[in-house]
Amino acid sequence: MQPFEHIRAKTIDEAVKLCAGSPGQNRFIAGGTDFLTEIKEGVISPQRIVDLGGIPELRGIRETEEALAIGAMATISDIASHPGIRRRYAALSEAAAGLATPQIRNIGTLGGNLNQRPRCWFYRNPLTVCLKKGGDQCYALSGHSDNLCVIGGEGCYIAHPSDTAVALVMLEALIEIAGPSGMRILPIEQYFAGPDINVTKENILSPGELVTRVYLQSPVDSGPLIEEFNSIYLKGTERQGGDFAVASVAASLTLDGQTIRHMPVVLGGVAPVPFRARRVEEYLRGRLLANVDPVHAAGLALASASPMAGNSHKVTVATNLTKQAIIRLFKNGARSV
Ligand SMILES: Cc1cc2nc3c(=O)[nH]c(=O)nc-3n(C[C@H](O)[C@H](O)[C@H](O)COP(=O)(O)OP(=O)(O)OC[C@H]3O[C@@H](n4cnc5c(N)ncnc54)[C@H](O)[C@@H]3O)c2cc1C
Repeated sequence: MQPFEHIRAKTIDEAVKLCAGSPGQNRFIAGGTDFLTEIKEGVISPQRIVDLGGIPELRGIRETEEALAIGAMATISDIASHPGIRRRYAALSEAAAGLATPQIRNIGTLGGNLNQRPRCWFYRNPLTVCLKKGGDQCYALSGHSDNLCVIGGEGCYIAHPSDTAVALVMLEALIEIAGPSGMRILPIEQYFAGPDINVTKENILSPGELVTRVYLQSPVDSGPLIEEFNSIYLKGTERQGGDFAVASVAASLTLDGQTIRHMPVVLGGVAPVPFRARRVEEYLRGRLLANVDPVHAAGLALASASPMAGNSHKVTVATNLTKQAIIRLFKNGARSV
């Protein structure tokens, strides 16, 4: 392991200044559950690590009448157990409660979870310099593909590893970013970027930028936060605990009487970014509940997938989870507007 400098920033501005310049050499650390693994395994060797743990503004979860703001340093456990999130945004609470292990959830943060690096074993292997590490080939094409994506791989075939990202894209959250040019807020769906944009990254952050907060607003309408909102997160794993998703689905349902007004459906574990199943959404929008065929709807989710040699099971798992999510949301009732 190469020696590195470790600096604990006290404010967001200080963190940004400390990290600016030397792309790739100055890096942020939050809980360290992914970042330290990358250093120990020799995947990265930064010169300066800027610790976000001493910045009070990044901590906590705050509810106002219009929005719920989650600091980037809120832990996954904080999110899983927060009563307002459990009541209003069950999908996020379920995604947080079911990821990794209790130890990781107690240390790992939202910012770290959204920005964790992929679990492609060729990327994680210090001996392979794949496209994501600036090399000139993807080793996954001729190697194990079980954990890789089935859709959206353009030269690089990672599956985005974050469970909270899937729930937050479905909830149409906003993400706040601080950097050398100031603050910006954008829909979280626009935050994640596939290999067609930049194969070495999974998001649109520029050097020196960090995630500061995520905002959840009232789904569908902006306005006061609603009290109850029916959403769900389902995850298929190989092992019962401490495992990444083979595939996952987040969905929610808003009705106009008996007609579906809005039903976002987002899949995890299948694409380099959280995958919005737009064909399912289009089929469901404006349809009477009684006229929905859940099997047909779910079959549309990955109808255009191109699985690799070892991962066609992901299509089956994702399709079945989507069907289950639709049936369960219909059974539980929905928010009516
Ligand atoms: C055994 C195991 C099982 C796991 N299972 C799952 C799972 O099922 N689902 C799942 O989603 N995850 C899973 N994980 C990943 C785990 O959730 C992440 O390691 C954790 O959430 C990262 O948070 P952290 O605060 O420790 O981030 P760190 O390790 O500190 O950082 C991770 C990355 O994010 C960057 N970063 C951190 N904070 C910010 C910020 N505010 N802005 C910009 N960049 C930032 C860092 O520079 C680094 O590149 C698992 C991990 C392990 C080890």
